[in-house]
Amino acid sequence: MPIDSKDVTWVQEPEIGFWEATFLPAIVEGLRTTMRHVTHYQPTTEQYPEEKPELPLHYKGVHRLNRDDQGRVKCVACMMCATACPANCITITAEKAPPEWPDRDKFPMEFILDELRCIYCGMCEEACPCDAIELTHLYDMTGQSREEMTFNKEKMLAIFDATKDSGKDPVRTHRGRLSGTSDFTNLPTLGPATSVPADDRSAKAPTAGVIHGTAVMETAWEQVADKIEDKRSAGGN
Ligand code: SF4
Ligand code: SF4
Repeated sequence: MPIDSKDVTWVQEPEIGFWEATFLPAIVEGLRTTMRHVTHYQPTTEQYPEEKPELPLHYKGVHRLNRDDQGRVKCVACMMCATACPANCITITAEKAPPEWPDRDKFPMEFILDELRCIYCGMCEEACPCDAIELTHLYDMTGQSREEMTFNKEKMLAIFDATKDSGKDPVRTHRGRLSGTSDFTNLPTLGPATSVPADDRSAKAPTAGVIHGTAVMETAWEQVADKIEDKRSAGGN
């Protein structure tokens, strides 16, 4: 359907006067800005890594897999995150849940996430119906090979262990009770995504899971590596 002419806003081309046509005012203004920076020099260099940057509260760093209140992996292997992931970097091998886990049908036997392929969009976190996968404030976990940056279930659970009590990465994707492993029974079950109440994810108190305080992570790869080692020695998740 053609656009109605009354819906069109016509913009008049501004007339350029003599001085604008010479570009001198623009040049003078540019020089003024340059001189202002020269005379009011304010360094903005961050002395990383001696000084850690203050990250915004919504910063999306490497992932973790959350545990439920019994210490089990919260993930129910529903594949929602892998389906939502635009970078196709999540691979889950689902297994039938053991009989002593009556609250779920499946669990992830393996959960692989390629952190080098990830674009840190947070879609997996948004898609997860039971708050099992979250992006943390850890930004400086590096590796010397692709294998080291391909995180498996144990590594992501260890990141949860290392970050959950840091005060900077509380469990925060609380979107209501959507599965047997969801913590939150008082919130309404979500309908279509468009009907999510505006304040559903923006609770007011720290206990409700919103990040409070300065989002600085004095990382921590050693800390996480130690946790993985502890888990391996203890023999399981
Ligand atoms: S943050 Fe985005 S790209 Fe990375 S795993 Fe999640 S959905 Fe995929
Ligand atoms: S969406 Fe959540 S529960 Fe489903 S497979 Fe991904 S992490 Fe697991």
